[in-house]
Amino acid sequence: MTFDFHKYVASIPDFPEAGVIFRDLTPLMGDGAAYAAATDAIVAYAKAQGGIDAVVGPESRGFIVGGPVAYKLGVGLIPARKAGKLPRPTVKQDYELEYGGINTLEIHADAIKPGDRVLITDDLLATGGTLQATIKLVEKLGGIVVGTAFLIELDALHGRDKLAGYDVFALMNY
Ligand code: 5GP
Repeated sequence: MTFDFHKYVASIPDFPEAGVIFRDLTPLMGDGAAYAAATDAIVAYAKAQGGIDAVVGPESRGFIVGGPVAYKLGVGLIPARKAGKLPRPTVKQDYELEYGGINTLEIHADAIKPGDRVLITDDLLATGGTLQATIKLVEKLGGIVVGTAFLIELDALHGRDKLAGYDVFALMNY
């Protein structure tokens, strides 16, 4: 079955601030068939990238995308969490937020082994700051980022440029 995934995206003007069109993916995630089809498309991409040892997703929508992908690939899901949430030793990375401010992501220091082949998933690629920080965390631990996968890429924000040298897959472009 081919899916018109765009039908499952709600576009919300002026959220979270004036002038921004927020792409709300909860309709896609809330529809069993659409969520499964989106997962299957990312799994197919991941398989084409060669062996994957782990999926890493940034908090929090990266978990929603990455969890079922990891399950289908038969690998683990590693959460990249906001500062202060993980209980054991971590590596940390600061990054700038799309709407201003600084955020920090962390991964448990023992979550990735040197040489592990990693797929990073998130719901949406905007400026690329979140993904760039997640890539740095994986690489600090010696992991190899063999692919990055999103439900949506916002073309106008050129996040892909920040991910130059890395493979980028997006199910939809806006
Ligand atoms: P970036 O770091 O690429 O600028 O922003 C991407 C991050 O912000 C993702 O983790 C994503 O969840 C969130 N984000 C930014 N804009 C939107 C949007 O319009 N819709 C959704 N669903 N998430 C967004």
